[in-house]
Amino acid sequence: MTRRVLIVGGVAGGASAAARLRRLDEAAEIVLFDRGLHVSFANCGLPYYVGNVIVDERRLLVASRELFRDRFNIDVCTEHEVTAIDRAAQTIRVKDLRKGTERDELYDVLVLAPGAAPIRPDVRGLDLPGVFVVRTIPDTRRIRAWLEEPPRREAVVVGGGFIGLEMAENLVRRGLEVTVLEKLPQVMPPFDPEMAAEIARHLRQAGVRLRLAEGFRWIEAHGGRLAVHTDRDATIGTDLVILALGVRPEATLAEAAGLAIGARGGIVVDERMRTSDPRIYAVGDAIEVRDVVIGQEIILPLAGPANRQGRVAAEAIAGRATRFRGVQGTAIVGVLGLTVATTGASEKGLRRAGVTDYGVVYLHPGHHAGYYPGATPIHLKLLYSREEGRILGAQAVGQEGIDKRIDVIATMIQMRGTVHDLAEVELCYAPQFGAAKDPVNVAGMMAANALRGDMPLADWSEIGRTSAVLLDVREPDEFARGHLEGAVNLPLSELRRRIQDVPRGRELWVYCAAGQRAYYAQRLLMQLGLDVKNLSGGFTTYAMMREAGL
Ligand code: FAD
Repeated sequence: MTRRVLIVGGVAGGASAAARLRRLDEAAEIVLFDRGLHVSFANCGLPYYVGNVIVDERRLLVASRELFRDRFNIDVCTEHEVTAIDRAAQTIRVKDLRKGTERDELYDVLVLAPGAAPIRPDVRGLDLPGVFVVRTIPDTRRIRAWLEEPPRREAVVVGGGFIGLEMAENLVRRGLEVTVLEKLPQVMPPFDPEMAAEIARHLRQAGVRLRLAEGFRWIEAHGGRLAVHTDRDATIGTDLVILALGVRPEATLAEAAGLAIGARGGIVVDERMRTSDPRIYAVGDAIEVRDVVIGQEIILPLAGPANRQGRVAAEAIAGRATRFRGVQGTAIVGVLGLTVATTGASEKGLRRAGVTDYGVVYLHPGHHAGYYPGATPIHLKLLYSREEGRILGAQAVGQEGIDKRIDVIATMIQMRGTVHDLAEVELCYAPQFGAAKDPVNVAGMMAANALRGDMPLADWSEIGRTSAVLLDVREPDEFARGHLEGAVNLPLSELRRRIQDVPRGRELWVYCAAGQRAYYAQRLLMQLGLDVKNLSGGFTTYAMMREAGL
């Protein structure tokens, strides 16, 4: 008997589920409903359409209704909103938004892929002309039209997360003066503060006015423009406002139908993407997923997981035993020439989850061999479990080569790799691409050295409270340009000759610019029987910490 599979939401998760199911089941009747004008469009490309990087709107349409029909025999109903689910009758209520009519549709299996909705706080002024969210192609059309007539000069982006910063970049690209308002003391909440400080520094350097630890309160029309009021009693005059305050799962339909909803507001599913009703599956931004590193359920509104979940749901519906492995939060964003990426847990995420037995290394290598022209620094932070060396997370910030480092570490995390594996992993190398010891190998080696006791690490948060002697092994001119308070300067280049000058009888905390010279000094001094710890990442890490106010 032909099965009738209905899918609510036809973008990342829904479209993936539909297309995969057709490849596995030629007989199923598959119907996709979306209340929007388009299915399978590239939401991730929307900021770049505003920025005119993508100029032809049609480029955002990955697949059309006709393509679904002709290539896959999938029926697509756009401008059709699903308003209710009757689980007992196995029907959904569908409203044709063009005609205003309603009908019931029978299902054997239902897939919910309704995505997430932008958070809109209940405050004054959000409906004023010139205030926008970025979720759909029509949203971006409206922003583009607003930017063009009359020409606009200033924009306020509320929210310094992924979408906020992408929008900031693209508005700068369009020649606007941009203010980013963020209520947390840092941008990019998934990152640790010292890594985010590097992003903030770059944004300011690029001319973005960054207002951290300043929340948005309400908006009013003022003299033909808009006035954004903040919780510091400040008012910012602007020509447009982008609200990028994050998203919340679209779980209303599921909740009204009595499906289980988790503590974070997302639909609860099992590893096969089945909801609490075995005939109903759910995928994408609307669901809660298991974070495999911290072992908790989270909301992770990203396109990669949504696509994979769509595929898993289709395979489960087709009777295969595929299971979703969970997520680890691998994400990347480009911000005005800087790339920032993360995978796995952050340090603050580990702490929040009650994990304490972890180690941290920082490194700041070039993105390729130093002798080949044009190397730019990568600021890399690696977190690992001290018990077994398992990699827990990494964050990287820099201009080049960020994506491949984080992707390698992400793969390692997924395979439950350790820092020893990372030290050993064989990667491609020619001077313009990397180094014979790639930054990810070096990160693994550093962590492995720390675990073996070859390179005991000092804790940056103890600076200022420690009674250890701070030993700066950089050259005197570097020391003169800035150093840790109370540090003694004994350059590595003179260390063997002046070994009698090394302070004895107290623990030594050694540092250099980025960690390498300090490590050499540490190994020498440890083999002389001294008690030496390394301040990982050296003065560069310290500068990032200071910038973050840590
Ligand atoms: P969506 O893609 O949002 O699709 C849900 C669809 O369901 C929508 O079309 C909606 O209209 C429809 N729908 C909802 N309710 C109903 C209903 N009751 N009846 C009918 N239809 C309904 N992720 C990344 O990984 N990388 C990026 O660079 C990135 N950039 C992004 C940039 C922007 C501006 C945005 C908005 C998102 C970005 N994302 C990015 C996130 C990514 O797009 C989402 O995680 C992904 O699209 C989620 O897929 P989904 O299928 O769950 O939901």
